[in-house]
Amino acid sequence: MYDSDTILRMERLPHSLTIVGGGAIGCEYACLFKVLGLEEVRVINAGGRILPFADDEISNMLREAMESLGIEFHMPDPVENVVAGPPLTVHLNSGKRLLAEALLVTLGRRGNVAALKLENAGVRLDDQGHLSVNDRFQTNVPHIYAAGDVIGGYALSSMAMEQARMAMVHAFDLKYKSGVSPFLPIGVWTIPEISMVGETEPELRAKGVPHVVGRWRYDANPRGVLIGERWGLLKLLFSLPDEKLLGVHMIGDNACELIAAGLVGMTLEATCSTFIETCFNYPSLSDLYKYAAYERDGQNPARRRVRIGRRAGTILSHRELTIYAMRKTILPKCSLAAIMRCASAASAIGTTL
Ligand SMILES: Cc1cc2nc3c(=O)[nH]c(=O)nc-3n(C[C@H](O)[C@H](O)[C@H](O)COP(=O)(O)OP(=O)(O)OC[C@H]3O[C@@H](n4cnc5c(N)ncnc54)[C@H](O)[C@@H]3O)c2cc1C
Repeated sequence: MYDSDTILRMERLPHSLTIVGGGAIGCEYACLFKVLGLEEVRVINAGGRILPFADDEISNMLREAMESLGIEFHMPDPVENVVAGPPLTVHLNSGKRLLAEALLVTLGRRGNVAALKLENAGVRLDDQGHLSVNDRFQTNVPHIYAAGDVIGGYALSSMAMEQARMAMVHAFDLKYKSGVSPFLPIGVWTIPEISMVGETEPELRAKGVPHVVGRWRYDANPRGVLIGERWGLLKLLFSLPDEKLLGVHMIGDNACELIAAGLVGMTLEATCSTFIETCFNYPSLSDLYKYAAYERDGQNPARRRVRIGRRAGTILSHRELTIYAMRKTILPKCSLAAIMRCASAASAIGTTL
């Protein structure tokens, strides 16, 4: 039986791995071990959705993508108990009994502060055992600072480093930074990757914030077609009526890099027209931003005006437009190798060139 630390010391690959927990670490390891060639990888999750913090559309797509890799899900179905083996027997709430050669438990991590006896220095912990801090990362004892996983919230290196920088700036009066950005990205290294910043659609709905959604799929983007990414999606959330960018959600190849355009956009208070006015490289995945902005709730002007060849007078779907673009725009300019990649991308979306 492993946790997210001891799994790094695994000496040989098992034939099968059962993972308890459908959060970021559970899903990342599930993808990793499946592509390492394990015959069976199972994820058991108490809730009905993996990555509950992510936008629901994105986490549902991730589940489909992981299932297509051959990963099996048992959810919503909490673990009742585990009986020692080998093999281990995992009893689920539904009455299912799973035999596990190897078990990885990813149900959250705790700060290792209890043994430090911080109370001797007067430092208080909250009910969850986290250190409480102010916006300069001072604990209730002003010359003792805390940053990273021990203060709770999302456990991410990027956030831990920003918080620690802010603490140092304050402690040494360095003045080069005034605070931690309110826009913090989350990256999940599943296959495919997921990344997000800002509000999710369910959060906006719950708060009653009027908004529009712009989506564009990788398989409707020429570069996405070339790389054959089936699962990619960029989803942008804009407020109404001012169309300010409120959230960016991505699944697909390089999502953890591509989120940067949205992240900087949110920091600089971008609106939908910021992306429409920007000229992106072609063919590039960055161009997803422009098309997702065009597409906000079906308002894509390009889509309304398309009239092509023998299909004059009809409105073409994204897929038809992509195939048209591949045939007319990319192929005549491409090397043989690129044409071969195009042909395999076309076969991935069920067509020929
Ligand atoms: C499997 C896994 C994958 C992850 N992937 C990502 C990712 O892709 N991207 C990302 O941004 N984040 C990721 N994270 C989260 C990230 O690792 C943490 O959020 C980040 O390391 C927090 O930094 P930290 O300095 O607060 O704590 P840590 O990095 O845990 O550092 C704490 C240090 O304190 C030491 N220590 C502990 N107790 C004591 C003690 N009593 N006395 C002295 N020293 C002590 C520890 O040995 C450790 O070196 C991942 C975490 C896990 C477990």
